[in-house]
Amino acid sequence: QEKDYSFMLRTRSPAGYIPPQLYLTLDRLADEYGNSTIRATTRQGFQLHGILKRNLKATIAAIVKNMGSTLGACGDVNRNVMAPPAPFTNRPEYQLAYDYAHRIADLLTPQTGAYYEIWLDGEKVISAEEAPEVKAARQRNGNGTLIHDDEEPIYGTQYMPRKFKVAMTVPGDNSIDLFSQDLTLVVIADDRGKLKGFNIYAGGGLGRTHNKEETFARAADPIGYVDGADVYDLVKAIVATQRDYGDRQTRRHARLKYLIHDWGVAKFKAKVEEYFGKPLQPFRELPPFQYEDFLGWQEQGDGRYFYGLSIANGRIWDRQEFRLKTALQKIIAHYNLPMRVTPHQNVILCDIEPQDRGAIQALLDDHGIPRLEAIDPLQRYAMACPALPTCGLAITESERAIPSVLARIRTVMDRVGLKQEHFVIRMTGCPNGCARPYLAELGFVGITPETYQLWLAGCPNQTRLAETFIEKLPIAELEATLEPLLVFYQKSRLTQPGLESFGDFCHRVGFAALREFISTYQPL
Ligand code: SF4
Repeated sequence: QEKDYSFMLRTRSPAGYIPPQLYLTLDRLADEYGNSTIRATTRQGFQLHGILKRNLKATIAAIVKNMGSTLGACGDVNRNVMAPPAPFTNRPEYQLAYDYAHRIADLLTPQTGAYYEIWLDGEKVISAEEAPEVKAARQRNGNGTLIHDDEEPIYGTQYMPRKFKVAMTVPGDNSIDLFSQDLTLVVIADDRGKLKGFNIYAGGGLGRTHNKEETFARAADPIGYVDGADVYDLVKAIVATQRDYGDRQTRRHARLKYLIHDWGVAKFKAKVEEYFGKPLQPFRELPPFQYEDFLGWQEQGDGRYFYGLSIANGRIWDRQEFRLKTALQKIIAHYNLPMRVTPHQNVILCDIEPQDRGAIQALLDDHGIPRLEAIDPLQRYAMACPALPTCGLAITESERAIPSVLARIRTVMDRVGLKQEHFVIRMTGCPNGCARPYLAELGFVGITPETYQLWLAGCPNQTRLAETFIEKLPIAELEATLEPLLVFYQKSRLTQPGLESFGDFCHRVGFAALREFISTYQPL
């Protein structure tokens, strides 16, 4: 008899959009076939854990028949396309980012019929109409000839050397961690909100392998600017460059970031321009990027509201007094609200009529869901990946460990005079870095059981990579390690022009100064 193989599956949800019908289906499937929890991911999809092999077909078929898909959420293809999750209707660039996330996702969706043959007995369910220009762009070959619908026009016979990650954003909004993506497109609109074009970043990626120096986290580079009308051809040119020149021999060297690292930006750009057929334009100047998480109640811009719900590590479940899964099921079923999964593993309930606000808040209160003001900001800004027990690659605990780690850090911060303060903390159970710890101000990366690498000196808006400060930190030594760092920060941070953040402080003074302070430190 075959073993009970158990799977995780995740949705392909461009820009994190989840129609109500799909959410209610996932809620039911989690109980029927999964572990009764739903997990919001850092790429704005939902994961179900614990699906037995014999139930995969029924689960995937139900998702596809209810306006969802899992196609391209894993594998060596373009993954879920991210975009800022805020459903602003009065800020056109947000709508453009949302629309183009869907269009780029369509452009790069594998055309194989095998997905439907395997999971839906060949029945092709179309959940949304594809824009005609997207289909035309996909079918256009570099030399102007047309490609048949049933061919893989972009991936060919071999797909990509490795996964490929695309995000859209708007100027100033780094909610999607743009420096961690293979390709980020920043919407540039005119004063009336009409699309002009896109700034392009490429070559970001965080996954690495312990003790393999040739693998590393890398921040994306600015590459240039493209007019709106050319964006599909430009995306295809970048994907084709990675498809044809990415390393297919050594898997851990296969991401686009290594190609750009090895070639340099100039050579990469020249090759992309060759495929694109014309030069890229100069990068447009942008305002600084900020951390955005869109939590709490906010006006949407059309008289309605959205509510950004902070969810510890994205885990939607019922546990004793905390009954988030039940609350969300009731809210979505009753008010028929669409949802956006955020890049920080939270969810945004959209399209809330003003008269429903009170009842929705009361329902959340009644189910034990803490209001935003009651959540410790250390938790609000923290992320952990699932790790044990559901991720097969995990070396250490992460999601299950981070609540106590945050509580212990809060205790140290209170003791050293940093009450109520916060910074961005992220933890993963292995160096793959799914919760993007290498862009945190304080990152924990599992290295051996109960032991983590400690990464420091990222910044609050995730525009700079952190660096390894301690190679192996037994988690039992957390307080003894952090206390001197936090005391040094509390005493020596800049207060002008604003209060210097912990990550910026570590970056400014440098690791040598941090180590020197620690060596002479007398515990409180
Ligand atoms: Fe699994 Fe590693 Fe990703 Fe965590 S970072 S979910 S342990 S692969």
